[in-house]
Amino acid sequence: LDLYDQCMDLALRLNTTLRRLQLEIIGELRSTDSLTGCASRRGMMSKLREEQARAERIQRPCCLCLLDFDRFKRINDELGHRAGDAVLREGMRFIANALRKYDTVFRYGGEEFLICLPSSPLCDASLVIERIREGLERLAIRLPDGSTHSVTASFGLAEMHPRREVEAIANADMALIRAKELGRNRVEMWREGE
Ligand code: GH3
Ligand code: MG
Ligand code: MG
Repeated sequence: LDLYDQCMDLALRLNTTLRRLQLEIIGELRSTDSLTGCASRRGMMSKLREEQARAERIQRPCCLCLLDFDRFKRINDELGHRAGDAVLREGMRFIANALRKYDTVFRYGGEEFLICLPSSPLCDASLVIERIREGLERLAIRLPDGSTHSVTASFGLAEMHPRREVEAIANADMALIRAKELGRNRVEMWREGE
């Protein structure tokens, strides 16, 4: 009887552990974009608020960068949706690898991504993003049919100010719109007072 009780106890504990693991896996899946492996929008604002609070505490600015792939609709139309997916996946893999481990990339929507660059004043962040822009332009992306294709993106950068995360995204977006207007495949910065 004793052994039976011990066995039941173990079974119950195993059940609890498995249930916890299941919830953890579901949470992980929901907060990760399945195509690119980037963080999803879920939890993005709370992560940005966290980074903003840290930036204030350590007195080191945090920058946000919105990136949008150039003429992406054309890639889908001319090469097919599967090729478009491969371009997004490989392009973002390159970008994520080029960043520091404490930077975060969120899939903001469609072919738009938001990069959070902690501990980076605007001038430092712009150098990092410019290097990424150049690298992406040179990247030969292998498509499902075995051919290779290249892609460019436009980038809008803005610094995050205390308790103004949403405004920083809007500012990065304005800079991104300017990058598109000025011909695409470029980095534009939003400056205070604009
Ligand atoms: P622009 O340079 O002005 O940004 O032009 P664009 O063609 O990139 O912009 P537009 O917003 O017209 O098109 C974006 C396209 O991206 C349309 C949409 O179908 C495609 N797209 C969004 N998400 C995905 C995805 O997950 N996979 C694929 N293959 N395409 C996607
Ligand atoms: Mg877009
Ligand atoms: Mg686009």
